[in-house]
Amino acid sequence: MRLTPAVDLVGSGAAGFDLTDPLDCHVYLVRGTRGAALIDAGAGASAGTLARELLAAAGPDGERHLLLTHGHADHAGGAAELARLVPGLAVRAGSPADRWIACGAEDKLSVDRGKAAGVYPPEYAFPACPAVRPIADGEVVDLGGGVALRAVATPGHADGHTCYLLDAPGGRALFSGDCVFTGGRISLQNLHDARVPEYAASLVRLAGLDVDALLPGHHEISLARGGRHLAAARDVLSRGLLPESTT
Ligand SMILES: [Zn+2]
Repeated sequence: MRLTPAVDLVGSGAAGFDLTDPLDCHVYLVRGTRGAALIDAGAGASAGTLARELLAAAGPDGERHLLLTHGHADHAGGAAELARLVPGLAVRAGSPADRWIACGAEDKLSVDRGKAAGVYPPEYAFPACPAVRPIADGEVVDLGGGVALRAVATPGHADGHTCYLLDAPGGRALFSGDCVFTGGRISLQNLHDARVPEYAASLVRLAGLDVDALLPGHHEISLARGGRHLAAARDVLSRGLLPESTT
């Protein structure tokens, strides 16, 4: 599903548009002249479809990237199978989530809590993805043709959470993962690495970015004036409150 000249939506589950497996987050494909990148991997069942999309967009000699927003299974559970299916795939995630994804640490990734809550079926297992490497705040992945992604460290929803800011000829977009959604909603869950002060600081930081599109990990997508959603979250924080939580 084409969203902008540089971005397609290629995966989306039950908390989205039902394009792929119900457990999947939104998975985005970004195209440049030198290669292509997936933003997030889904939970795993859709890896074959996503791999085909990435390989077709990158071309036979193009760079292939997988940029993970965080380690929760609906976003990162498909990383191991994508790394198996896509030769030369560069898999990246913010620390410390990179280490948890590399060894499939289900307690750190809150898979056990997700199962207890009925989000994931009891038989779900998070496959370890040893190929993952850390991505630092400010690091740029240049896909060519004026299409580049910059990592923005945004802890709070989960440790290592990272948003990606896209600069492209068609405009600027923020891939916001589970940090912020349309309407300025957030996702503050009862998990070991949900951290309110860090979350608030991340939201204030994002509100300082000038973006056209807001492309979150679930729910609605905003293709224009996306910054108003970031401002809405900041405005609630400025009153000493927390934005409404979802997902
Ligand atoms: Zn999450």
